[in-house]
Amino acid sequence: MKSKLVCVGCGREYLLLSGASRCECGDLLEVVHDLSQITLSKWICLAGSRLGARTLPNASGVWRYREAVLPDLPDEKIISRGEGNTRLYEFPVLTGMVGVKYLRFKHEGENPTGSFKDRGMTAAVSWAKHLGSRAFVAASTGNTAASAASYGRAAGIPVVVLIPEGRVAQGKISQALAYGAKVVKVRGNFDDAMRLVSKHASDLGLHVLNSINPVRLEGQKTIIWEMLEQRGWRPPNWIIVPGGNLGNTAAFGKALREMVEVGVIRANEVPRLAVIQASGASPFYSSWKASFSKKIVGSSGTIASAIDIGDPVNYSKARKAIEFTNGLVDCATDDEIMEAKALLDREGVGAEPASCATLAGLLKLSRRGAVQPSESVVCVLTGHFLKDQSATLNFHERSGSVLVNKTVTIDPTLDALERVL
Ligand SMILES: *Cc1c(COP(=O)(O)O)cnc(C)c1O
Ligand SMILES: [Zn+2]
Repeated sequence: MKSKLVCVGCGREYLLLSGASRCECGDLLEVVHDLSQITLSKWICLAGSRLGARTLPNASGVWRYREAVLPDLPDEKIISRGEGNTRLYEFPVLTGMVGVKYLRFKHEGENPTGSFKDRGMTAAVSWAKHLGSRAFVAASTGNTAASAASYGRAAGIPVVVLIPEGRVAQGKISQALAYGAKVVKVRGNFDDAMRLVSKHASDLGLHVLNSINPVRLEGQKTIIWEMLEQRGWRPPNWIIVPGGNLGNTAAFGKALREMVEVGVIRANEVPRLAVIQASGASPFYSSWKASFSKKIVGSSGTIASAIDIGDPVNYSKARKAIEFTNGLVDCATDDEIMEAKALLDREGVGAEPASCATLAGLLKLSRRGAVQPSESVVCVLTGHFLKDQSATLNFHERSGSVLVNKTVTIDPTLDALERVL
């Protein structure tokens, strides 16, 4: 049986081949696979037998799981850069500081363009090319732009990205430009750019690569599959992820639902999702606090530019994910995020600001007892340390934190060198 698209609001069904990204009723579409063909043992054997493969598509940490990503896509249509296969780091100092039995960081900054967006992009771009798309568009806080530019190049399809002027880290803009995308700066915020894309992409003949595109989320599910595989298929108690447009939140919820369906994890051992937003862009947190009685929107801005989003497109799917996993939503101020970033960076790998909202949130959750010392926690680090160098440099030049590490300048003499050692 073929996979299909099902509206999360009204339940109407569409062919996956239709390439639709929204239901006629306006709500989001979700890819639904026939998982009855996938048994637990077949699943674990297949994924395991491909582990360590040197050639694509099996060498990809997305396509290794292709039976649960896009079973209808012929192998020769896969456009991959060998994404995924990211490390699960242990930083013992942080484990002690948080005060839990087990803490790991799944570093999605280790993807080809430096963020988890590559996992979704390989799926969305492969499928769109299979459907015959001629040009791509995405609104972006930066990493989607870098990833779309890269995978568009791999597919030989032109890419237009819309970014909010003055609100995107330099590393990301430089990638999009260098990889050859048409970069359009919008005088406004991300939500303005997103609205422009949602309303007009199809009239302009452009295929949307934002996470409103349900196929992208199929690729992003593999963050969870791969993390579970790295843990010998034992689920942790908590998965912590930053929330912006809430694509990951939605994808993680779907991955966990499907894993219960296939029998990889039991219904009573589903990890709880904790979504951390930046206080300056925390509409999902506000909605959660209001028990999801209404969708709250709006943002005032944050240094974690990747999650500077006031009207997350995946709201309804993300809400389902929180409800299914008995999860929670919290937020962290810019100071808390940068302080957590300094702690994480000091362990010698580091991540961009938005990723560090996870540690900032976790520290708060453990302090107030929501996360217990006996529990196991996996934080998802979404973007590479080098994406936003000015945030790091400004922190170490200016912040009053005890974690500041200032540069010193000396005359070229032994005397001067000895004085600063
Ligand atoms: C896109 C992005 C996010 C936000 O992810 P959503 O799935 O939109 O919630 C978080 N961190 C980084 C580094 C990103 O690039
Ligand atoms: Zn509908």
